[in-house]
Amino acid sequence: MIIKLINNDFSFDIANTVLLFYPRISTVDGNDGKEITVSLNENSAIAEYSENNYVYFSETYFNRELYDFQRCACVRSVFDVCYKATGIRPPWGLLIGVRPINFYLKMQTLYGDKCEEILESSYIVSRDKIRLCAETVEMRSSSVAKLMNDSFSLYVSVPFCPSRCKYCSFVSYSTENETKYIENYVEILCTEIKNTALQLERKAPLTVYIGGGTPTCIADHLFQRILNCITESFDLSECFEFTVEAGRPETISETKLQIMKKYGVNRICINPQSLSDDVLLAVGRKHSVEDFFNAYDLAGSFGFDINVDLIAGLPLETANSFADGLKKIINLSPSNITIHSLYIKRAADYGADCSLYAASKPEIVNEMLSCAVYLMHDNGYYPYYLYRQKNTIGNNENIGFSKKGKECAYNIYMMDELQTIYGCGANAMTKIINNGIITRSCGTKYAYNYIKNNGEKNK
Ligand code: SF4
Repeated sequence: MIIKLINNDFSFDIANTVLLFYPRISTVDGNDGKEITVSLNENSAIAEYSENNYVYFSETYFNRELYDFQRCACVRSVFDVCYKATGIRPPWGLLIGVRPINFYLKMQTLYGDKCEEILESSYIVSRDKIRLCAETVEMRSSSVAKLMNDSFSLYVSVPFCPSRCKYCSFVSYSTENETKYIENYVEILCTEIKNTALQLERKAPLTVYIGGGTPTCIADHLFQRILNCITESFDLSECFEFTVEAGRPETISETKLQIMKKYGVNRICINPQSLSDDVLLAVGRKHSVEDFFNAYDLAGSFGFDINVDLIAGLPLETANSFADGLKKIINLSPSNITIHSLYIKRAADYGADCSLYAASKPEIVNEMLSCAVYLMHDNGYYPYYLYRQKNTIGNNENIGFSKKGKECAYNIYMMDELQTIYGCGANAMTKIINNGIITRSCGTKYAYNYIKNNGEKNK
């Protein structure tokens, strides 16, 4: 599709709006015969979209009450012509390239009581999504209240997994092939953790999160070494939440749980992603549904707060099997349940599994998510953080649900950029927040480069 702009340069928002309706289209070339022209005039924005010799037209008059009225009018016109051409109505409306919660709060500050009305009428966000934002803001408030001026959290990355899931979009190595790297990796990671702490005057994080990957897939002594290094380098007397993303159920053993207990971990994630053995097999997970229940029971006996992740839209998953799985998880009564929308990898990454992904339809994912929101509310779980990723099926969001008082503060602080986070390890982002200004630096993306660069960060 060719995009032509007249009197405006909202190319980012316009291209991303088009992609909501045509996710696989190239917005750079015009090989498909599609063309959209967006012109900004004195009082309005006009979009004209031509496809197969048919022209769709839309004009949006400025609502000068809006802080971004020109951008809003351009994007609205594009949204309207694409809607006319496809019949699709993305529920997040004109919220492109923004964090929904931060945008909702900004609108509250700018427009007070009229915020939700404006979101619905001018930014055409659906009522359900507005309600989701309002509930999320309320649920996260007690974690926000725990923040202090100079507080920070710590993130440690262990980017290894027992095998690679076919849908994986993370930088994670399978331990099947990369065992030789792990020992070196842990060595350099521990040096980085120590050095990070040494640079800080105040060494007391509010929360610690060890993620990956699947940190529990490495050898017990290496896992213990990381935990030991964190507790020796930092002062954990103020740390009220210490999470390990155990992730894969088959990596959870009594020894690992004992190590976590010993070092003060109080929250772990056990993520089956689906409660259908057929789905697990299809996406390359090496565990069964039974493994998940066994791991859950074992971890539960240690008294951890547990988060369970599910993904909506995995190949072979149906709306019914998804809902059945979710009900079984609710019956376990974990503290948190996180629902992700399947992220679609680039077509080139699908390889032989392309046909599996073709079965994951946006309308089915929408149904799964609507059902999830309903079941969660009905069983005392409420949204406490949410984020959107590009290229999820149906442009849906990822939502963390929690029982009241059990929200994961780290997720809130990190996702809504409320607090400085020091990241250690490959691909771990450090975000230093100072008077609203964020300075970012990131660990080298791949573990073997991280080892080669001795843990140097990219600014
Ligand atoms: S468990 Fe997560 S990080 Fe590991 S391969 Fe699967 S999707 Fe990727």
